[in-house]
Amino acid sequence: MTTVILGGGLSGLSTAYYLTKKLASNPITLIESSHRLGGWIKSNHSKDIIFEEGPRTIRPHGDAAPNTLSLIEDLGLSDAVIPINSSHPAAKNRMIFVKDQLHSLPSSIKGLFKTQMPFSKPLILQLMKDITTPRKVIEDESIYDFVNRRFGKEVADYLISAMICGICAGNSKEISVNFLMKTLFRYEQDYGSISKGLIWNFFKKIKKPEIGSLSMKARQEKWSVYSLENGLEMLPKALHDNIKNKVSIETSTKCTDIEIFPELNNVILHLQNGKNISGSHVISCIPSEQLGILLQKQHPVLSDLLLQIKSATVAVVNVHFDKKLISREGFGFLVPPGEKLPILGVTYDSCIFPRGENTVLTVMMGGAWFEELFGKNPEKDFLLKIALDQLKKTLNISEKPVQSNVSILEKCIPQYVVGHSEKIEKINNYINKNKLPLSLCGASYYGVGINDVILSSKNAVDRLLKI
Ligand SMILES: Cc1cc2nc3c(=O)[nH]c(=O)nc-3n(C[C@H](O)[C@H](O)[C@H](O)COP(=O)(O)OP(=O)(O)OC[C@H]3O[C@@H](n4cnc5c(N)ncnc54)[C@H](O)[C@@H]3O)c2cc1C
Repeated sequence: MTTVILGGGLSGLSTAYYLTKKLASNPITLIESSHRLGGWIKSNHSKDIIFEEGPRTIRPHGDAAPNTLSLIEDLGLSDAVIPINSSHPAAKNRMIFVKDQLHSLPSSIKGLFKTQMPFSKPLILQLMKDITTPRKVIEDESIYDFVNRRFGKEVADYLISAMICGICAGNSKEISVNFLMKTLFRYEQDYGSISKGLIWNFFKKIKKPEIGSLSMKARQEKWSVYSLENGLEMLPKALHDNIKNKVSIETSTKCTDIEIFPELNNVILHLQNGKNISGSHVISCIPSEQLGILLQKQHPVLSDLLLQIKSATVAVVNVHFDKKLISREGFGFLVPPGEKLPILGVTYDSCIFPRGENTVLTVMMGGAWFEELFGKNPEKDFLLKIALDQLKKTLNISEKPVQSNVSILEKCIPQYVVGHSEKIEKINNYINKNKLPLSLCGASYYGVGINDVILSSKNAVDRLLKI
């Protein structure tokens, strides 16, 4: 019987890819509410430049990274990869905007030993606070509180708060340490401090994930991040090309309700167009809040848990100037929320991936503070004006852009607040206890980045085929 994939963003397309690799003959249907596939990944091309509306770079580091690189290899995209290696200014120069100035963050061990503004003493001294700070036994806490306890207020205020704006447009005082910094948190809980955990684990043999030739290349060439030559949308497009003859894909088809009959091994998806789709299993690749709505009638307890994983809205303002305007090349800068500016940060797209003599920047705005800053339904012109005013304030750019694009990405980044892991455990327990033919993947559960999302799809397919 049919396996139904709900959602045609990166996780839905990846799920279809892994399923078709392993279940070649079984029918698979993918349902997507919008007219296009790819979800938040959207690369707009205009006048020889690319405006990325959603993600722009992928990390080659971390446990989930080799899997993405293998996928890219498998899809025949290896030659399209544009890496940024560790000596590139975009890898070396990441900045924060604090006290009306841009400050570069230390990019080497040597940098940790210098006093660098806005910090009042060398970062190494702040990090060493960890050695004398006693363990606090807890289940979870906010990243801000954890870092404040172990490294001090300056690291929490300037470094971590800005970093969380960059990772998930979130408030570090709400985001769970047990999820986004799980390893460091576990070091404290299991060994007494992060430094002790680091020492103990230095001697442990950690089983590294198997890596393919592209991952090997990334290591040898010391990639810091990478993208694809025609923008990151090449990835969902290649996934679509790979699956389109094996999967029945229905775009502009919104699911409005789900009924599950575990004893019959049957799931019925009710669609907005009045039709139904029936299958033996549904793999949800839509945001948890949206799945929560679909399960409200039949599974209110599960629905309630899913609805608790909220997502933040981000306004993305891409601007293109026809000359070079950035004096200090780099990846861009983040703004810690304590600075009270109406932006999360700015990426220097034309420094990261130069395409001609121009300046292309992306201003990220809102996130956890979207409504507080801009109200419920702000006009795009209003957001553009704020973005341009902020470019004047932070980068002294007062030119008019030759083109710009404002996108309001409603509820686009899940917020893993304190207690997230516990919530996920409860959700999985409910599904298992009730033997629901339902799998969950996508950005709402096991990590918000591209690597996490693709791995969540692979894991969901592996688990399903073991049932
Ligand atoms: C602004 C921004 C910048 C980012 N930058 C980076 C970055 O630089 N690097 C990085 O690694 N990650 C980044 N990310 C994260 C990454 O883009 C996401 O994790 C990933 O794209 C999420 O994919 P997804 O398939 O889980 O969700 P989505 O992209 O949300 O896809 C879900 C799909 O389901 C569809 N859908 C929803 N409800 C229904 C329904 N009822 N019926 C049918 N279809 C439905 C939607 O239309 C959508 O197409 C960024 C995200 C954003 C928003």
